[in-house]
Amino acid sequence: MALNQATAHELSTRLQQGEITARQLVEAAIDRIGAVDGQINAFISIDPEGALAHADDIDQRRAAGAVLGPLAGIPLALKDVLCVRGGHTTCGSKILEHFIAPYDATVVEWLRDADAVFIGKTNMDEFAMGSSCENSYFGPTLNPHDPERVPGGSSGGSAAAVAADETILALGSDTGGSVRQPASYCGVVGLKPTYGRVSRYGLIAYASSLDQIGPVTKDVEDAVLLLQAIAGHDPRDSTSSTAPVPDYRAALKGNVRGLRVGLAREHFPAALDAEVAGAAQDAANALVDAGAELVDVELPVAGHPEYCISTYYIIAMAEASANLARYDGVKYGYSAEGSTDLQEMYLHTRSEGFGTEVKRRIMLGAYALSAGYYDAYYRKAQQVRTLIREDFARAFAACDVLISPVAPTVAFRLGEQLDDPLQMYLNDIYTASVNLAGIPAISVPFAQSHGDLPIGVQLLAPPLKEARLLRTAHALERAAA
Ligand code: GLN
Repeated sequence: MALNQATAHELSTRLQQGEITARQLVEAAIDRIGAVDGQINAFISIDPEGALAHADDIDQRRAAGAVLGPLAGIPLALKDVLCVRGGHTTCGSKILEHFIAPYDATVVEWLRDADAVFIGKTNMDEFAMGSSCENSYFGPTLNPHDPERVPGGSSGGSAAAVAADETILALGSDTGGSVRQPASYCGVVGLKPTYGRVSRYGLIAYASSLDQIGPVTKDVEDAVLLLQAIAGHDPRDSTSSTAPVPDYRAALKGNVRGLRVGLAREHFPAALDAEVAGAAQDAANALVDAGAELVDVELPVAGHPEYCISTYYIIAMAEASANLARYDGVKYGYSAEGSTDLQEMYLHTRSEGFGTEVKRRIMLGAYALSAGYYDAYYRKAQQVRTLIREDFARAFAACDVLISPVAPTVAFRLGEQLDDPLQMYLNDIYTASVNLAGIPAISVPFAQSHGDLPIGVQLLAPPLKEARLLRTAHALERAAA
């Protein structure tokens, strides 16, 4: 098997034993990017010189007998929403096209300490707003399984890069499904940790009460390795959890005997795509074969798209309208020229710098927060959010993990939903409720459609139960193999 097709856990063992070098791994990734990325467009920028220099440093330290970090020499791609000091961080937007981050995100700092090698920054929907990766100022990313289809979004570049073997590991961010849905569309693993488990410091904010950074990997064991490196308390993020980080690797040794797996009727409406429904049901049965037990649960609010999608989009857009106020042409990035006064400069900067979807959301979010509408929309959405959280808490009293589809369909065609925002938003029916509740969830590749497109299955767990989630995901992955 070519080096760029292997997993991080396989490669790191071989590297630590001196069978391969970090330079070979980085060269394999760069060659692969050179060969396929012209078509896939998974990367916004790559850093071959920096990555090779880092690889050489790791190889020299290994030769000198130094103890290396757990991800030593492994190529890793970062979604371009994460700040890397001295490097471009565009967020997929014209407004940040030339922005150079003045500091490292905490995850970037910790991954550097783990000796991972940053290979480049991946494409994304502008400001992480989208489900198809078509809202990028830098052009769409294509699905490596079918170039006429989207890779999912907003972390479509990260999922496509891992699926196309352009990188071994990647990070994405997930506000309403942006790690899990592209992982499902591209046939890779995508994990959204519990809100607060991974520091958001240096992650450019979209909706701060929902955003979470997560691993995009080729298998569950790699997701474990990557989560282990990025999970933990960070005083620079006031919402960061102080709960101790367990040894997630121990989870891989467990099994699912006696585990109660919950299925919610609301997740399987009659109109659901038969292959998508079948994959989740087959996955549940595979867990039963491995010793788990199925239980029926109810999600009367969290399981209903009309509550979840409206609640999610009101809250996400409201927070986005506040977070994106900082892009005013003065503090960051693009600044329109030729204006005669400050108001005009703001107007032109934001009109020219933001794309259509971002502007739509800023306007809708500002509307939902404005006097007279706040109670009807924003406050109501917060109340429904509480009901959604309570729904999950009740379900998890009866089961240990939940299983559901990741998205209502397989990867759709480029352009197919671009003119119908509501249709695009409905992609998130299974994923957005997870962010509203703050719980962890993972997308595991499980089946293939008749058209040979990947179908993932989602597992959900109570807050901070990542070890249980990963143990179940590992069992599911073995069943799928
Ligand atoms: N599709 C959702 C949105 O556009 C989720 C995006 C995300 O998780 N960043 O808001």
